[in-house]
Order: sequence, then C-alpha cells, then structure tokens
Amino acid sequence: MLEKLVDPKDVIRWKGEIPVGFRYTPGVAGEVFFRELRDRGRLAASRCDACEITYCPPRLFCERCFAELKAAGTVGPRGTLESWSAGRVGVEGEPLPEPVTVGIVRLEGADTVLLHFLTGYGKRSPAIGDRVEVVLKPRARRSGSILDIEGFRPL
Ligand SMILES: [Zn+2]
Repeated sequence: MLEKLVDPKDVIRWKGEIPVGFRYTPGVAGEVFFRELRDRGRLAASRCDACEITYCPPRLFCERCFAELKAAGTVGPRGTLESWSAGRVGVEGEPLPEPVTVGIVRLEGADTVLLHFLTGYGKRSPAIGDRVEVVLKPRARRSGSILDIEGFRPL
C-alpha cells in the first residue's frame, strides 16, 4: 500500500471491542492542577529555577533538565493567544454542525502553553496575539476535569 490517502473515510477500519480495563491518574502535579481548578477556579503551576521556566499545567519534573520542580502558585487567568485552528470535520471524518475552534494560550506568568476551546468570538476570527481570559464552569458544575474550563474568550 503505497498510495496516498486523501479522504479519511478511505482508511480501513475494523470495528470491535477489546476487553481491557485501565485506570488513568493525572499524577501528583496533575492532581494539584485539577483540585485547584475545581475547588478555587485557579490555574496551578510549577517552576524550574535553573531553566527559568514556569509550567502550566504543572509538571513534577522539568522537561528540559529533569530537576524536581516546586509549586509556583497560580498563573493567568489572562493570557495571549499564540495559535489557533478551526475544525470542521470530526475524528470519524463526519462534517461538524458548527466549526470547533481551539487555541493555544500562554497564560500570564507561564512559559508553557495550554490548548483549549476558544469561545465568545462570534463571527469574528481569532488572531494570534489576542488577549484572552479563561472561562470557567460555575463552581457547582466543576468535577476536576480539563473541561472545568469552558475555553478562552477575548478581552
Ligand atoms: Zn529545568
């Protein structure tokens, strides 16, 4: 098979079930992030002083020098849109009823970026460099998930 596929529906798929159970945990730093998000609506971070990098979401170890990191409080909730994209086709190749727009945002105080939905743009197109802020679900509806964040809206 050396031909290039241009239509995702041409990919051969076998449907079935695999009887596998697993448990995924967010890890020590991820748990801090999700608890802080759920309980206080804030975005936790961790810091590597040697590399001068503040990570959000926090990591337990620096991705560059492997040093153990320390908590760095919180970052955001405002930030800068670094990139964005609009999806018009679902993962199964089906057309979506409405485009889904996602953005990569560098939160104030962080050196890393967070990917999430963009919301509140209406008919306006996002632009790299836009100032945005986090939109959270109401406290009673948060569950400790990345979807406790509804997205980023323009300021
Ligand atoms: Zn480091």
